[in-house]
Amino acid sequence: MPSYIGRFAPSPTGPLHEGSLVAALASWLDARAHGGRWLVRIEDVDSTRCEYGADEIILGQLAICGLVSDETPLVQSNRSAAYEDALARLASAGLVYPCGCSRREIEEVLITLGFLQQRHEERVYPGTCRHGLGGKPARSIRVLTSMGDEDISIRWNDRRLGRQRQNLTREVGDFVLKRADGLFAYQLAVVVDDAHQGVTHIVRGEDLADNTPRQVHLQRLLDLPTPEYMHTPLVMGVDGQKLSKQNGATALDMSSPVEALQQAARLLQLPRIEALSVSEWLAAATRAWATRWVS
Ligand code: GLU
Repeated sequence: MPSYIGRFAPSPTGPLHEGSLVAALASWLDARAHGGRWLVRIEDVDSTRCEYGADEIILGQLAICGLVSDETPLVQSNRSAAYEDALARLASAGLVYPCGCSRREIEEVLITLGFLQQRHEERVYPGTCRHGLGGKPARSIRVLTSMGDEDISIRWNDRRLGRQRQNLTREVGDFVLKRADGLFAYQLAVVVDDAHQGVTHIVRGEDLADNTPRQVHLQRLLDLPTPEYMHTPLVMGVDGQKLSKQNGATALDMSSPVEALQQAARLLQLPRIEALSVSEWLAAATRAWATRWVS
């Protein structure tokens, strides 16, 4: 097994923008600075958010910036059997259960409990269906985030953010692995695919840091290795939220790829690099990245 396999895993919800290029570039530089491999994975598991043709546009934009996957990109919509298999393994170990709650019901229970914590537009699941559906039809499948009376607390060391910790039981609750619309959840797909591709290092945007404990939890339940994590700074939109299509992100200007790379590198606190070509720029940026992040 190679000692370093990294990846960039865009969801094809639209073309790359300034913010997504930062994660793409950082993951590429980290792989190259470690002498490792770099893979692109198309994360179209949530087909309701995907835009037709965006995958090809993204791969084209990456190629103009000199960022080309070392393997044919893995596409999540072809991977349902692997997700089903992982879910079956968890089910046979008694680690998942069907849930019949709608969002509204979850909210009502939380209001009754005087506990309305919101994270990532998701409520902490109060465990209503843990001991049975109570006559309701099953909607989704959730994974247990506590064993007996014990809370599960996950610690991990982020290469940029430092030591992190989350009490999964209290801050997240049993989370969904298969959604009410029949789609597999991102959390399951990402864990199964990272292991399948032998990913050793994950470099991605800081907005995803909060998902890491859920993914580490699943890795442990499925007996899969935990990669190293590094979460990169985010480009903010005018509303102070992470830059996205919704708050004004526009497709990258590909007329000057060196300029686009330069802008992404600035957020990553790399020095300005004077280079005439993309390949010259990337070689110099890899050296600068190695000085900073590879010991
Ligand atoms: N597909 C996710 C996104 O585009 C990234 C997942 C990951 O890097 O783990 O936000």
